[in-house]
This record gives sequence, structure tokens and C-alpha cells, in this order.
Amino acid sequence: MARLVMKFGGTSVANVERIRNVALHVKREADEGHQVAVVVSAMAGKTNELVAWCKEASELHDQREYDAIVASGEQVTAGLLAVALQKIGIPARSWLGWQIPILTSGAHGSARIQSIDGAPLVRGFERGEVAVIAGFQGIHQPTGRITTLGRGGSDTSAVAVAAAIHADRCDIYTDVDGVYTTDPRVVPKARRMERISFEEMLEMASLGAKVLQVRSVEVAMVHKVRTFVRSSFDDPARPNSGTLICNEEDIVEAQIVTGIAFSRDEAQITLRGVADKPGVAAAVFVPLAEAGVNVDMIVQVASSDSMTDMTFTVPAAEFEHARAILEKSKPSIGYASLAGAKDVAKVSAIGIGMRSHAGVAARAFKALADKGVNIRAITTSEIKFSVLIDEAYTELAVRTLHSLYGLDAA
Ligand code: ASP
Ligand code: MG
Repeated sequence: MARLVMKFGGTSVANVERIRNVALHVKREADEGHQVAVVVSAMAGKTNELVAWCKEASELHDQREYDAIVASGEQVTAGLLAVALQKIGIPARSWLGWQIPILTSGAHGSARIQSIDGAPLVRGFERGEVAVIAGFQGIHQPTGRITTLGRGGSDTSAVAVAAAIHADRCDIYTDVDGVYTTDPRVVPKARRMERISFEEMLEMASLGAKVLQVRSVEVAMVHKVRTFVRSSFDDPARPNSGTLICNEEDIVEAQIVTGIAFSRDEAQITLRGVADKPGVAAAVFVPLAEAGVNVDMIVQVASSDSMTDMTFTVPAAEFEHARAILEKSKPSIGYASLAGAKDVAKVSAIGIGMRSHAGVAARAFKALADKGVNIRAITTSEIKFSVLIDEAYTELAVRTLHSLYGLDAA
């Protein structure tokens, strides 16, 4: 007997018929004698609709009420799945975040899970019940208010519940059958991976792969939750394999580059004619940090005449905000001009093998140059490198790197 968490995303619970199909997946595991906690998302499109309603009611809304509104989608699916399970003879009950409780910080709209009491769920298992948990939501105890964990947050609910109840595995059921070497819509030759390490998955998710919420991978890594990404569209009686996210030591065939991620949601800002003296980086980046703008790649050109250029990227959605802050700080920074571009993309190669192999990124620069792709900025770290390029070349660059590192399927 094992203890499992099964998480189903929005497309897997998009309507009552699909919820019935989910119930069959749960029944398969329950019939094996496993203890099962299920975490569900809202029906596909529901959260977007709720967010839109909230904005329509008031552009400048109270974030606490935003959470009260958007958390409701998961309440519906949790109840519906419990009913669908009961109908096929599986004892089940729904749990909302506050009922368990899942305690979070008070950062409404992007709260962090602080602790989960696994005991009530375990008592339910002992009564022979499946626990159906509303993902994405929790409660901020000091105020008693409902919180949500940020878009895509049910992945994090699932992994955190798995850690709290010491589950043997956390299965994330989605509309794809695993984690791919890159987005198969861009590279048809992308391959499903059997396994990927926590660290690589964290980079893949942070750098644009949309399969899991970044924070869920952090939680899985910290608590060593064996997490399995698999498809809910398989035959519930005969499901296929997926991708296991696990410790590095459990990966037999390590590759130098494991995957290629990309993100089109980037914007570039260049400050020209910045004085090359102590304190200028702080003058640029402290106001941005204080305003909550996420700065990513930073390139500073070596100066010849004590003047320098500084290029960096921010999420495209924060571009106007960042520009306004920099214009306001112009007197304290002291730059000649500000240029920006939103039509840029970041393409990254990820692999733990980079730690022990030299020249991995250099090969990419050569391959991209051969294809006429201009690189605007580069960043590297221990297990990844990223290049910033014109957005129009995204697909070409992703395909080029995917073949270069031998990731194409035969
Ligand atoms: N329903 C929420 C969202 O769409 C949470 C989730 O699906 O993970 O962001
Ligand atoms: Mg999701």
C-alpha cells in the first residue's frame, strides 16, 4: 500500500464528463489499496473568467476580495469530483484550504504556503476516504482570510500536500504525457524525458517551460517529493508512463544538455551613457527592486572613457512600469538615453552535465551565428546558459540548439 497525491489540472477537469474520467483514474489507485489525496484545479478557463470579472467590477480591487473570488473555481471542482467518486462507490469528501488547514503568508494573490496539517487527511484515509482538495488556495491565519498561491498554484498545493502527508509520490496529471526536451509545438522532434532532476526542472520551469509552476518544483526539491508528470487523457485502466522528477543520483544516463526552454515574455532595456563609477548599478537596480520589478539578464559594457552602457531584461508585462521608474530616477542615475525593445526572446539550454563540461555554450554561439541569429545578451550559470535574441528568431534558435545537443528524436 502506498500513499499518493494525484493532481489534475484545468483541462483534465474541464467539464463533468472529464471529471468522471478523473474519478476513474482515482478509482484505479484506490482499488489497488492506496491512500489517495487528490488536488484539483478549477475547470479550464474558469480562473481567467473570475479574474476578468473581478477587474470588471473594479480595476483597483481589494486583493483580499480578489482571492475570495478566484479561489471559488477550485471549490466547485473539488465538490464535483467528490460527488463523482461517491457515485462509483469510492468514499470521498472535499476539503477547502481553510478546512485542512493550509496556512499561508498574507501576500494575497501570490501567497506562500507556510504549513499544512496532514493529520485530518490521514484520519480520513483511516476511515477509507479519498480526500479531494481544492488546489490554489489557503488561509492566512492571523486575519482568517482566504489566500491564493499565484497562477498555476495548484501544482504547488499538490506537492506541498504530498510533503505534509509523507506521500510516496505526487502524480501531476496534465494534458501532456510528461516533460519534453522542449515545446513539441515548436520542435516536433522533441522527446519526452523518462527522468529529469529537480534542479534541471526548476531551471526549465523558471526559464519558460510551462508544464509546472516554478514554486511547486522548489517545494518538491526541498522536501524531496518524487513528482511524476503524466497525462490524464490516457485510458484510466491502462495509463502510460510520464516523466519522473527526482534526485540527480537517480538519473542513470546523464546528458550534457537536457532541455531547451524559451520565453517570449521578455523586454530589453538599455541605458546609454551611464557614468562608470561605484554606486551606479545600485542607483539603477535598487529603485526597480523596491518597485518589485524582476530584473533578469544584466550586461554592462567595459568602458573606455568612463562612460558605459547597461543592458538588462525585465518581464514584458513590467516593461512600462520599469521605464517609468528609470525615467523618474534619471537625475540620480545620470544616463544619456534609454532604449527599450519588447520584441525579444530568451532561449536557454539546461543540463547538469554543464558542470563538468567546458565549451558547451560556445558551441551554441557558433551554431546560432551560422544561422544568422544575433545575440543581444548572454547569461550563464552552473547548469544553464541563456541568450537574448530577436523574437522573430525564437523558433529557429530553439530548433538549432535542440539538434546541436543531440536532443532530436530519431
Ligand atoms: N486555477 C488556477 C489557475 O488557473 C490554479 C491552477 O490551475 O493551478 O491559475
Ligand atoms: Mg497548470
